[in-house]
Amino acid sequence: MANTAALRAACIIGWPVGHSRSPLMHNHWIGKYGIHGIYRREAVAPEDFPRFIASLADRGYVGANVTQPHKEMALRLSAPDAGARAVGVANTLWYEHGRLQSTNTDVEGFVGALDASAPGWDRTAEQALVIGAGGAARAVIFGLLARGVQRMHVVNRTIEKAETLRAAFGPKVVPAEWSRLPDLLKAANVITNATELGMHGRAELAIDLGPARDDALVADVVYVPVKTALLEQATRRGLRTSDGLEMLLYQAGRGFEKWFGVRPTVTPELRAIMEQDIGGKK
Ligand code: NAP
Repeated sequence: MANTAALRAACIIGWPVGHSRSPLMHNHWIGKYGIHGIYRREAVAPEDFPRFIASLADRGYVGANVTQPHKEMALRLSAPDAGARAVGVANTLWYEHGRLQSTNTDVEGFVGALDASAPGWDRTAEQALVIGAGGAARAVIFGLLARGVQRMHVVNRTIEKAETLRAAFGPKVVPAEWSRLPDLLKAANVITNATELGMHGRAELAIDLGPARDDALVADVVYVPVKTALLEQATRRGLRTSDGLEMLLYQAGRGFEKWFGVRPTVTPELRAIMEQDIGGKK
């Protein structure tokens, strides 16, 4: 029987946005749950973003994901929840009583991926090492703090940005110079790359996991490729790993539920579809 419900549309807004795998994931769920909906890509230049957001509902959208470079602006142009305010960037928008709300689901994406990839990781995670200090790093730090990590060194090319994270998140966050990486590796229970390094077309993250603890968990937010050189190295070294694709899958569910009314599940089938797509065309 034909689905006569009104079409519900959501999108991912970015600049560029062609690389985003979010449409593949959300449209898979739309099909799986029999929803009369669609999820599109919207390439919107930074100068056009405020106008686009102001007319999101008029364009037929019930909500959106937001990716770089719009995540900070999305927070400012919406009513963010406490999590998004704490992280400082928003990636998911939806309407409530006609008002545009926002949140940051990268936090649950990151910890959801750790839980799925290394169950019980937080029982022994006292210290962490986070490489990067951008939007993804903020979500990583917020997630690690929420799960009880007591101390985390944050290493970033631009050290001033790591210092602002200490101001934002408190004294458990310790900014450190890039040159200290080899030393800081030794004590970390969780090591996370939250930079763009290792992404297809970018330089690799030059790091030697040799001195890492044998029980360290190594995570990467980069998901193209799925198995980054960092994760390959961790696997060779016998360490547990958590990849950026798993994070992408776990961050998506809450937005989908807000827009389409169903909480979707992350399945091996969906992961395989995404892996194949990423592997096939980067
Ligand atoms: P961002 O806010 O622009 O931050 C970029 C970070 O990468 C900064 O720490 C930056 O250092 C660092 N960086 C960039 N080029 C570098 C270089 N050549 N050498 C050293 N550091 C470098 O971006 P973001 O939103 O945090 O995104 C970072 C990565 O996370 C991207 O690959 C993105 O696709 C990924 N991500 C994945 C998910 C997921 O669900 N898996 C979610 C969100 C983001 P400086 O501060 O010194 O510039």
